[in-house]
Amino acid sequence: MRAKRPPWRCRFPESEQRLPWLSMLLDACAIIDKGTAHAIQKEIKRRKVRLACKNNCGNCCRTHTDIPVYPHEMAGIYWYAAEQMDQAVRAVLRGRILAPPTDASCPFLIDASCSIHPIRPAACRQFNVFNKPCDEGEDPFFTRRADVLTPIREYTDKAFYTVLPFYGVVGEAEKNKAIESKIIHTQAKNLKSLKWLAMVKAMDDFDSRRGSLNK
Ligand code: SF4
Ligand code: SF4
Repeated sequence: MRAKRPPWRCRFPESEQRLPWLSMLLDACAIIDKGTAHAIQKEIKRRKVRLACKNNCGNCCRTHTDIPVYPHEMAGIYWYAAEQMDQAVRAVLRGRILAPPTDASCPFLIDASCSIHPIRPAACRQFNVFNKPCDEGEDPFFTRRADVLTPIREYTDKAFYTVLPFYGVVGEAEKNKAIESKIIHTQAKNLKSLKWLAMVKAMDDFDSRRGSLNK
């Protein structure tokens, strides 16, 4: 029997029915979020610190250049941008892909918010900072490592375990072997080095499919 899904897990019933990998990805996101919340609470209790991250505080999205993104996450981002994103935001995103920002800003950062928030990569979900917000241009990983949250490995592994069928890895023994060997990590790309043109194609393909259905 399928385990009961937690209330904080995003749901897209129609798409999930059509795209079974999407359910795995959303389950994995919920596991990462639970693990992140748990790690934050542990740290607050242990060090008596406060979390500095809040909505629309996007310095990290402008500064960090090393954000890993995995193929299953890229598939989710393509889907979300093509099928779920608000049309006005989508138009801005398209512009940011075709004419990338000249600074180190993430292409998905629009109006100081993450335009793919429900489906953003695990690395973004896990990056949290304590004590004080990051200064402009600051990467606290280098300036004050002790203030950067260390994710709980058990949750990260569980999230990877959940999406292994996306990579053709099925069966408990094979999955455990894949997690132990960290083979999935070899699949990571750098979010900011990618051109994301395939995502624009996914948007165009979706629009033409929708256009033919509406004729
Ligand atoms: S990591 Fe730093 S810049 Fe990003 S949300 Fe947290 S405090 Fe703000
Ligand atoms: S994907 Fe979203 S959260 Fe991650 S760096 Fe880009 S804008 Fe920020």
